[in-house]
Amino acid sequence: SVGEPLLAVAGLRSGYGKIAVLHGIDLAIAAGEVVALLGPNGAGKTTLLRAISGLLPVNGGTVRFGGADMAGADPRTAARAGLVHVIEGHRVFTQISVTDNLLLAGYDLPRRERMARIEEALEYFPEIAAKRADKGGALSGGQQQMLAVAQGLVQRPKLLMLDEPSAGLSPVLVDRVLGVVRELRSKGTAVLLVEQLIEKALAVSDRVYAMAQGQVVLEAGAQEADLPHRLERAYFGQD
Ligand code: ATP
Repeated sequence: SVGEPLLAVAGLRSGYGKIAVLHGIDLAIAAGEVVALLGPNGAGKTTLLRAISGLLPVNGGTVRFGGADMAGADPRTAARAGLVHVIEGHRVFTQISVTDNLLLAGYDLPRRERMARIEEALEYFPEIAAKRADKGGALSGGQQQMLAVAQGLVQRPKLLMLDEPSAGLSPVLVDRVLGVVRELRSKGTAVLLVEQLIEKALAVSDRVYAMAQGQVVLEAGAQEADLPHRLERAYFGQD
């Protein structure tokens, strides 16, 4: 509805079986906004993405997306609504072609529509476009990671959630992936970016949330003065 953010998470609780990990998360993302989600290992960033996209149950609180209740929706339903999660360390299929990997990402779309979206996604990744007929396994590790992002783009997200897309990439490829985030932003796609490379994440983001121990401990504009210092305090729990 009018005035409501694209994604609105309030009081979200989730975890693994009896293990509670998220203790009431409040977070909002506007259409077209790039938001970095930072925090130390084990803070609950991946768990938060999983709970938002329906990979984990919502044990309390609300998840609204595009003005609709999305709590408890399965990932496929969320993706169809434009809420797309590229999971950490996602593996592409190595025995089938790059194009077939992309076709699988949009398997419930009409073929014509799928082909159009694949071309659209490949525009962001020229080096993968050049290898579209090759098997997934013929791509370098970094290219496979970019193919995973391209698979997310085939679903034409309104919000793309990326979990450490730069993990294990060379500095040049890290810049390529974050360059894609910048491009998405300029085209009006919102991004929620989990990233360990704080400076690089802030450089492409509008706002930032930091988590520690299953809670949001800081929310700020990405360019705010003194942010590195405040983040450090948030990470280490001093205040
Ligand atoms: P990282 O950067 O290490 O991925 P993170 O902020 O994404 O950290 P999570 O992976 O969400 O953190 O983990 C949050 C907590 O949930 C940790 O205490 C972790 O041990 C626990 N956890 C993660 N996955 C599982 C699981 N499958 N079963 C039980 N507990 C889990």
